Amino acid sequence: MATTLTARCVFLGAPGAGKGTQAKKVAEAAALAHISTGDMLRGQVSAGTELGRQAKGYMDAGKLVPDDLIISMVKARISEPDAKSAWILDGFPRTLPQAEALDRNLSANSALSHVIYFAVPESVLFGRLTGRLTCSKCGAIWHLQNNPPKAAGVCDLCGGGLVQRSDDLPEKITKRLEEYRTLTAPLLAYYREKNLLREIDANRAPTVVFQELLKLMQ
Ligand code: AMP
Repeated sequence: MATTLTARCVFLGAPGAGKGTQAKKVAEAAALAHISTGDMLRGQVSAGTELGRQAKGYMDAGKLVPDDLIISMVKARISEPDAKSAWILDGFPRTLPQAEALDRNLSANSALSHVIYFAVPESVLFGRLTGRLTCSKCGAIWHLQNNPPKAAGVCDLCGGGLVQRSDDLPEKITKRLEEYRTLTAPLLAYYREKNLLREIDANRAPTVVFQELLKLMQ
């Protein structure tokens, strides 16, 4: 698709709202850097780095990783060459101090252009997360009921094996949704006040959400 966007965009919403699925598709369609703090942290954990070691306990408990660790990781990432002008931040910021740190780190000509809130009723999120499957090779996201792969356990796109994330177990999901409600949801008011917030009804088919997102991000 020949879409070009020069957006510097935050995708905001609860776990399971579809941010990661859509960020991957939009970033690919519009040549934006996709910066997912969850993916970055999982990469650090599997590489056995010091950051991964520090983050793992929080992630396993469904809790947010401390702000200072996340903020320095994102600061370094958005200064890399592919992320200088246009990106999607997926899963960051998730707290007020993270949002304030992001503002401080962006100069006037690289300020945020959009914050998109993925609205999904809480009653839907749990089922989305418990059925979610991720490709261990290309990161594509599938769902046991809503978006099943053609062959069980195999990614349609690359043939990689599908796995369930260890934090997509019911007791972890409950904690993650609680963290979202108390620490992340206040960011809606923060960005609404700055007149940056745009809301999308993300409780619809992924293809419909994708088309609307491209329009919202113009
Ligand atoms: P996600 O893949 O976005 O659902 O993130 C998975 C886990 O990584 C979260 O439950 C947190 O433990 C951690 N994490 C990801 N992004 C952040 C962030 N911005 N702040 C704190 N913790 C984060």
